[in-house]
Amino acid sequence: MAYKVMFISLGCAKNLVDSEKMLEILAGYGFEFTEAPSEADAVVVNTCTFIDEAKSESIENILEAASFKKPENGRLKALIVAGCMVERYKETLYDEIPEIDAVVGLASIQDIAAVILWVLEGNKKIMLADIPMVRVMRPKSKAASANYIEANEELSAPRFSLTPPFWSYLKIADGCDNPCSFCVIPKIRGKFKSVPIDILLSRAKRLASDGVKEINIIAQDSTNYGRDIYGKTRLAELIEKIADIDDIKWVRLLYTYPLHVTDQLIDVIAGNPKVCKYIDVPLQHVSDNLLGAMKRGMNYKKTAAFVEKLREKIPGVCIRTSFIIGHPGETEEDNDQLIEFLEKYKIEKAGFFRYSQEEGTPAASYEKQVSEKVKMRRLKKVSVAYDRVLKDINKSLIGKEFEYMIEDYDEESGMLTARSYREAPDVDGYVSIAAESARYLVPGTFINAKIVKTKKFELYAEAV
Ligand code: SF4
Repeated sequence: MAYKVMFISLGCAKNLVDSEKMLEILAGYGFEFTEAPSEADAVVVNTCTFIDEAKSESIENILEAASFKKPENGRLKALIVAGCMVERYKETLYDEIPEIDAVVGLASIQDIAAVILWVLEGNKKIMLADIPMVRVMRPKSKAASANYIEANEELSAPRFSLTPPFWSYLKIADGCDNPCSFCVIPKIRGKFKSVPIDILLSRAKRLASDGVKEINIIAQDSTNYGRDIYGKTRLAELIEKIADIDDIKWVRLLYTYPLHVTDQLIDVIAGNPKVCKYIDVPLQHVSDNLLGAMKRGMNYKKTAAFVEKLREKIPGVCIRTSFIIGHPGETEEDNDQLIEFLEKYKIEKAGFFRYSQEEGTPAASYEKQVSEKVKMRRLKKVSVAYDRVLKDINKSLIGKEFEYMIEDYDEESGMLTARSYREAPDVDGYVSIAAESARYLVPGTFINAKIVKTKKFELYAEAV
């Protein structure tokens, strides 16, 4: 009888891609999957540890899974923790949570099946390096070989997707070389490492042949793509080549770094009809004071000029960004300047995060830490101001027509849920569309619709 694995994937899109890789490997080894922890022989928690809230969520999931080790609750024998939390806390995880049987670091995700089997065979408390790999059961398919990550681009290898069949992420690099003061990612994921362009193109072709219509490009800093292996950035070229693939309809660029966005890249976004007029570019703040302290290589003037350039060169561009509230040294004036910026530049999609003091980062030891109470107050102030901006933006969209990818049909409202180039999957929500025979329209197909009303922050459209 095959062993059953329950897999919990937490955190960002980049972690989700790692989860997909692990699931493909486990499927190749003949593991079965379950969503019921009481039926699982093994649980894998692929963790996130970006900020405090992510850490708590990871710990809660690990502890909840651990409770299924009690015989009255299930038959769980192997509790495996993978992902960013392992990189950061591998020394203490075992001590803090004795139910954990094994930890799998980011460089070892291809060994996930071996680790589970090792534990299920009765071996306990191991770090990945302790496993003699010769004891590992032979993989059932090529996809599960130890070289899987480099070799899995053959079209015959099974693909395991945690996203709907019609869109996917494509992770083009891992790690980060940027010096952002608040960020622990370079410590966790190491130096920036690009995936060679030919591997990415075969992956993209394979996604297209599997029915994927929209590819979302991700990395810690996608705009740095290629510098480590080609000595120069090749992101614009990569995007054009992916857009050339026949069945791909949309290519969307996520996780860019403002300082690294080149004119060539802007021209590709503006000029290639298959590239979404959308850019995800975390600005983090706008004030000179904060951007300097954050070591972002930007200031207010450069940030404003950058946004103006995007607006001028890419008509209709939709800018998605995020801001950190309460970074050490932030003043009331900095917060007000951010609000003015949002009002002036009418940023279409903005997320706001409370600064989290992450050990091992430069900002953690900065003086002038901002108290939680002040952070909360400023977060509220900026969120309320941004809600007004968002309402204005939504009102200005009424009467506008866009092409939408159908995601689903909502039984309750009788409407389609769909996304245009303006809505990235997972983060930007959906537009509700009324259409004739909506129930029979197939997810992953495209439809044109005109926005007819906005309610709270939701948009409603009618098929045209
Ligand atoms: S660009 Fe900055 S914030 Fe983003 S992953 Fe790299 S160091 Fe972290």
